[in-house]
Amino acid sequence: MLPLKDKDKPVVQKLLSAGCCARCVLRFCCVSVQAAYRQPQQETLKELHCFIGDTTDSGAAKSTEENKDEPAEDPPSKRPKLEPSLTGAELDQGSTAEKLKDEESQVCVVCLGILQELCDKNQAIKIVEAVKGENYEFDTLVLSVSLPAQLCVREHSCWLHVKTQLREKSIILGKDDVIQVKEAFKWIMQSLVAKELGGVAVVTKSPFEVGVEFTHPETDADCHFLASVCPDCFKPTKNKQSVFTRMAVVKALEKIPEPKFLKHYPCPPIQTTTRCSAQDVQCLHTSVFVAGRYNKFCRSLPQTPWVIDGERRMESSVEELIATPIVSAFRAQGFNFSSSGREDVDVRTLGNGRPFAMELLNPHRSRFNRVQMKQLQETINNSSDKIRVRDLQVVTREAMSRMKEGEEEKTKSYTALIWTQKPICSEDITFIDGIKDLTLEQKTPLRVLHRRVLAVRPRVIHSMTTRFLDPHHFYLGLKTQAGTYIKEFVHGDFGRTKPNLCQLLKTETDILELDVESVDVDWPPTIPE
Ligand code: ZN
Repeated sequence: MLPLKDKDKPVVQKLLSAGCCARCVLRFCCVSVQAAYRQPQQETLKELHCFIGDTTDSGAAKSTEENKDEPAEDPPSKRPKLEPSLTGAELDQGSTAEKLKDEESQVCVVCLGILQELCDKNQAIKIVEAVKGENYEFDTLVLSVSLPAQLCVREHSCWLHVKTQLREKSIILGKDDVIQVKEAFKWIMQSLVAKELGGVAVVTKSPFEVGVEFTHPETDADCHFLASVCPDCFKPTKNKQSVFTRMAVVKALEKIPEPKFLKHYPCPPIQTTTRCSAQDVQCLHTSVFVAGRYNKFCRSLPQTPWVIDGERRMESSVEELIATPIVSAFRAQGFNFSSSGREDVDVRTLGNGRPFAMELLNPHRSRFNRVQMKQLQETINNSSDKIRVRDLQVVTREAMSRMKEGEEEKTKSYTALIWTQKPICSEDITFIDGIKDLTLEQKTPLRVLHRRVLAVRPRVIHSMTTRFLDPHHFYLGLKTQAGTYIKEFVHGDFGRTKPNLCQLLKTETDILELDVESVDVDWPPTIPE
């Protein structure tokens, strides 16, 4: 039995004759029992007719009238009705059944078929086939549904239609009390889809989302009058195909006064000839995040693909060497790569390496255990001797922010090979070892000025060590605050970094080689080999 009350009777009557489907009738009667929506719509329709007493009263009256008229009009058609075996009751049933059949095949004026044929087992099979075809790895899924915006207009019209009826009885029907089409659709489809997927839980929150979209071109113009009534709500935006987004339509409907709406739009909405059509099913898995540390052993490898004026300058990059195997293992659609600082193309990164993190977009595979991650790391390391990865692991989005957090305060260690114009002996440079916490004023280097704002940044060199090589060369070890420009400290960048090594040694100096020895960021956690 449907959970309807006596007061619902006139509403049910009114909605059925307006051309609403059985499930939309339930919605406007605020029925929130999910099972009522899940039963076949034909059943519900029959029960609704029973409820308003249609089978015995109006149905019978109608068929008696027809019987009366028919003999005069159309003799051949009266024949079956004159068969002696047919009783009056059977005749009534026959015409009611026809009427029911008619109503069933009619496209609902409110949901435009979404809660009718578009919401049954066949539809569930279509969705599941699409999902299976994409070959995702998932335990649960969330079903999302996108409806044409004009459905809101039709819903509004129908709500006003019912509201007027109820107002006569001093009953108030709030718009929020009406069960939404989306809600009812999910109640019905979630269990059908779950069943077709062999018991995968269809839940309200899951990393895997299956989106069903409906369109209805025949009624696209339904919204258009709103643009002239509420022009404020429909501002063109760059990315949207149409200004009539669901959000904008809902906003306009909240603003528009009832009489104005009724002047521009029929109440109840008018019948259509077609029902909504389902678009391709869209599957989307939330991003997975992977982090690790990398070494770079090559002095001709940029960190990211190096493209100038559309032309590739270097064959590969750190990013590509790391990302390609990971993207393919996770079967992701794309990725974002970030790291704790970066090194120049000619700088090596040694020691424990530089922390990096990657967001994998729409990964089709998302579950990797420790052993599998280790294997993936080996795949990367075997693919090139220019880089090496360690501590590769799956992390959370939140944990990723730890890499960037307090980056400025972190220290980095470097080794630089220095050339001096004036000949030096080892005693000439030992004083450098005694310099502690030297603060530099660094103007944005000329070489990065095209992509960074001009500013003067104070940076601290915590300590330095020297190792004499020959009268024109020595190794300089530096422990500095992150973000210090080492090359500029050595050659002075035309006086833009002060003090600089030229000033300290009172000769021209230049940097021939630079290695990053360590990046002191304690994230991601170390994984024992
Ligand atoms: Zn409907």
